[in-house]
Amino acid sequence: MIHRGILLFVCSLIIHVALTGTYLAQAQSGVRSATNRQVPSPRSMLGFSPGEDRKIADWTQITNYFAKLDEASNRVSVQTVGRSTLNRPILAAFISAPENILALNKYKEIQRKLADPRTIVDARERNALIAAGRVVVVISCSIHSTEIVASQMSMQLAFDLATADDADTMEILKNTILILIPSSNPDGIDIVANWYRKTLGTPSEGREPPELYHHYAGHDDNRDWFMLNLEETRALTRLFWKEWFPQIVYDLHQQGPSGSRFFVPPFYDPQNPNIAPLLLRQVALIGHKMAADLQAAGFKGVITNSLYDTWWHGGFRTAPYFHNSIGILSEAASARLMSPATVTREQLARSSTRGMRNALEATTNFPDPWPGGEWKAADILKMEVVAARSLLSLAAKYRANYLRDFYELGKKNLTQITNENEPLAYLIPAGQARDEEVAKLVTALVEQGVEVFRLDHELHATFGPQVLQRTSPASERLGTYRRIVAATAGMHEVPAGSYIVFLSQPQRSNVITLFEPQIYPDRLNAQGEAERPYDVAGWTLPLQMGVEAPAVLSIQETPTDRKLTLIREGNEVRDDLSLPLKKTGRSPIANPISRPVRIGIYKSWVANMDEGWTRYIFDTFNVPYTSITDADIRQGDLSSRYDVLLLPSQRAREIIEGNSAENYPKEFAGGITEAGVENLKRFVEKGGALVCFDAACELAIKQFNLPVRNVLEGLRANEFYCPGSIVGLEVDNTLPLARRMPRNTVAYFINSQAFESTDPKVRVVARFAKDNLLRSGWLLGEDKLRGKIAMAEVPFGNGRVVLFGFRPLHRAQAWATMPFVWNAITGGF
Ligand SMILES: [Zn+2]
Repeated sequence: MIHRGILLFVCSLIIHVALTGTYLAQAQSGVRSATNRQVPSPRSMLGFSPGEDRKIADWTQITNYFAKLDEASNRVSVQTVGRSTLNRPILAAFISAPENILALNKYKEIQRKLADPRTIVDARERNALIAAGRVVVVISCSIHSTEIVASQMSMQLAFDLATADDADTMEILKNTILILIPSSNPDGIDIVANWYRKTLGTPSEGREPPELYHHYAGHDDNRDWFMLNLEETRALTRLFWKEWFPQIVYDLHQQGPSGSRFFVPPFYDPQNPNIAPLLLRQVALIGHKMAADLQAAGFKGVITNSLYDTWWHGGFRTAPYFHNSIGILSEAASARLMSPATVTREQLARSSTRGMRNALEATTNFPDPWPGGEWKAADILKMEVVAARSLLSLAAKYRANYLRDFYELGKKNLTQITNENEPLAYLIPAGQARDEEVAKLVTALVEQGVEVFRLDHELHATFGPQVLQRTSPASERLGTYRRIVAATAGMHEVPAGSYIVFLSQPQRSNVITLFEPQIYPDRLNAQGEAERPYDVAGWTLPLQMGVEAPAVLSIQETPTDRKLTLIREGNEVRDDLSLPLKKTGRSPIANPISRPVRIGIYKSWVANMDEGWTRYIFDTFNVPYTSITDADIRQGDLSSRYDVLLLPSQRAREIIEGNSAENYPKEFAGGITEAGVENLKRFVEKGGALVCFDAACELAIKQFNLPVRNVLEGLRANEFYCPGSIVGLEVDNTLPLARRMPRNTVAYFINSQAFESTDPKVRVVARFAKDNLLRSGWLLGEDKLRGKIAMAEVPFGNGRVVLFGFRPLHRAQAWATMPFVWNAITGGF
């Protein structure tokens, strides 16, 4: 950050001249200042320009480049804000005018105050803060590592901002503080870079790597922004929502190669009803500015109002809404990693999504389709630079408006509720006998800046579970629901040691969206088929975790009579509950399996997120296992090595056939094959246990001829549809596999399975609920699911197969059904 003024003078001058004719002229970077001439260009350090065909910078190169920028430019200060899952540094480059960079602590303090209007004394102080503040903008690149171009672009954007002296750049630097995250998944940059370099010039060039690009989560690394299971989401959440409170967060992604060239907001329907309308208007304004600037710069194929919606909570771009900030997404059409792709008119004509009939047809939201041809990483990079600068320039021009809106939204959330049917708080009562779950829930809330209090003395309150109530006949294919608080009559004592989350706090909408059951609007196409939401429809966090968290309607004690302590960090909760504290690298959670079991978890070379999340849970709970691959299963003799084999959710065909040998090197092609299926069968016949999650049940049912049928197989989306929702379960807890489970619980259902069987040997552990089936989300065709088998144990030879019709560990969020997994492994004994 401190300008040293002696670096790389001649070299960078030459490179500057060389670049002017190519990329920089298009980026409107203008004249470079004398003081910043010494700032090295990416090309001078990498030996190639970011975005060049078949050239990729890995994390070490990106890190080195930013370290050099920090050293050479007084406009740039680079901080390491955490370590990744595999221990790489997570970087944040602060870019602003030199005087702002020197006063970062002052601006951080202004942000902290604006984020919590209760800390501001009066209108005069507020106005002074707004007058003095800067708009804090986050730009984050390549959380999805195969969407690689933005990580390369980050170096170019930083260089331009560090060196250009045109009026637009100077205004951006003066009025904004950019926090540039070159990648929010550094491990993935290296996974992709290593794979890409290794496969250049082979038939695998430009294809997805045969492993998850996040050690545990793969693509789901962007589904973790309220659960905070991952090191990366924890580190960045701390930076954003505990320290810097950015007004605008822009997350750059890439979509498939053959649709629109570039998506920017506004988003498609449905909107999440808890997002402040003002935020959605601001999102639209920025998106349209980006679209207009891209059009003006001559780019074709920019689309708005398509595919991506704001319903779901938990993404990089959606979490900001629940912190009163503006979340922006762009999705560039992909090349083949850093290799060019050719996209034909036929491919474009066949490409269709919500909001785009085909990629050749001009419409109001897509006025200038791209005609097809060659598509390169450099095309993506140029569009991303224009979009990023467009956003920054708008932020700079309306600096005071962004700060004022941010403050006002936080203030509005503090307004007391007047409607007596609206909760005023959510309660996490003491004594649930689910201490680890309570600790995880409260910790996740506290880590994202939600205010949670511990009751140091009992209270008296009216409260009850907030549930969905069906208001249309149960026979109807679609249900109409309303949310009610099934309140217990009269005042009840709430014991000391309970936790309470008041709605009156700056993050009010975050609390509501995490605690209340979701009601996804019925959205059908002309054929009466379900229109697919962008991600899941329901996620109510305490419900998924099996934690009771009723809504509070009234409290007898006045605020001054309540004895409450604000929880500042997760360890306080563990301390309260007498749970072990984390000391060094390992998780403090005890292994729930009481006897030694040799466990193998199947790891396909068709990268499978459910497999990664399964490992995550086993590692978190310190349950030992071995990852077993296709070759291990093909080799056989599994009984000598394992007692239990676990197949995470994956289609039978993918497990058996794997990657095609045409596209992947031999060691990653081929699947377990029919021979592997026979080996699995022998393993169970000899006494082993095969535990199948969701889609993997198909393999056992069909290949082993189990006396069980999936009744949902082959149903069309106008008969049955359930895209990521929480449903009720009725448990036979007299069975060993249901040990420690309540009679009524919930399961995560995501286009999952439901079984029927007439064989008395099939032990039915749980059925989908006959009443109150949908607990959060969306479900079309309830009658197809009601009362069907959700989980069963099927004897086979001397062993057993355990079938989970649902996702018992979904995204490491579904803690409610986790005990079933431990029971399935041990047999419940
Ligand atoms: Zn993405």
